[in-house]
Amino acid sequence: CLCRFYSSFRFEDLRITVTDRPKRKPEPKNLKFGAEFSDHMLEIDWTEQDGWGFPVIKPLEPFIMHPACKVFHYAPELFEGIKAYRCVDGQIRIFRPMENMSRMASTAARACLPDFDQGELLKCIKKLVSLDAEWVPYSDQCSLYIRPSAIGTEPTLGITMSNMAKIFVITGPVGAYYPTGLKPISLLADPSFVRAWPGGCGAYKLGSNYAPTIAIQRYALKNHNCQQVLWLYGEDQQLTEVGTMNLFVYWINENGEEELITPTLETGLVLPGITRKSLLEITREWNEFKVTEGHISMKTFIKALNEGRVREVFGSGTACVVAPVDRILYEGKDLHIGTGSDQKSLTQKLYETLMDIQYFRTPHKWMETL
Ligand code: PMP
Repeated sequence: CLCRFYSSFRFEDLRITVTDRPKRKPEPKNLKFGAEFSDHMLEIDWTEQDGWGFPVIKPLEPFIMHPACKVFHYAPELFEGIKAYRCVDGQIRIFRPMENMSRMASTAARACLPDFDQGELLKCIKKLVSLDAEWVPYSDQCSLYIRPSAIGTEPTLGITMSNMAKIFVITGPVGAYYPTGLKPISLLADPSFVRAWPGGCGAYKLGSNYAPTIAIQRYALKNHNCQQVLWLYGEDQQLTEVGTMNLFVYWINENGEEELITPTLETGLVLPGITRKSLLEITREWNEFKVTEGHISMKTFIKALNEGRVREVFGSGTACVVAPVDRILYEGKDLHIGTGSDQKSLTQKLYETLMDIQYFRTPHKWMETL
């Protein structure tokens, strides 16, 4: 078992220094993803000897770090992605943040980074967001992206557990993913590239999972004009994920049943996405078609496609909610998929349902106030 016990930092020990030089906030219409940051950051340091220090909120500033810090060499690093929304009633709410806290803790255990009290971290994050509340865009298309991270900071070479670590959280306003409505994407499905494997780390949000995917993503775009990679695994070329999104197929399955299927988490190949979990919960509640977590091989997928049984394919994630797929390049041939961006599509309906929840047009227990 990788679980270890650490006493945690506490929200009540939080120390706050407010900036005396607030930055100008960007116009919602000019926002790109990840390019703008709010005024403040949260930082909490840990040492094996003394445990967690006091949480600190302070003006956003660079780190000064020794070049031997383990994170620069062996990549003990994890991250999360959460969004806060300015809801229709004017209140700021965060979408299912405890889900991110628990995924962060499970990734920390896998990365040999220290454990922490998830509720205490969330209280500190809420304080950070409320201090920078004016950075949450006044728009029902935009949001505040919250990026918690943890790194191993011990300044010694040698591949061992880092006896020093840091949690830090930065936030920044992000724009509409689809300013003009859902836009379908194309995928490169090439089994010679593998993102994750059994016994590996695909189920954890480690930075080291992502660095090796960037070259493949660029290759897919530059050489094949495909916007994302469809990650396949194994002898039977299981469909696992779409770029940095979970995968959903809406089809008539081999038994003739209408089904929404997404790859199972049991293989450990797939990140347990919070959007994925939410879409499964929503569609199971609708009870309009079968909802399955299972296996999809390239062979069964192509057979279904040839028999006209595939209705829609889409990815899901915090950044975009859903991304319809209209083309998959596989073995040199384009596979065309139907109307995931259509006004009456399931993809569109799920997109609207989740957006209505996130902006609180449909009040929902998933939205937490600060
Ligand atoms: N898979 C991968 C590999 C991801 O990086 C992400 C983004 N966190 C997802 C799936 C979707 O997860 P979520 O819905 O929690 O954003």
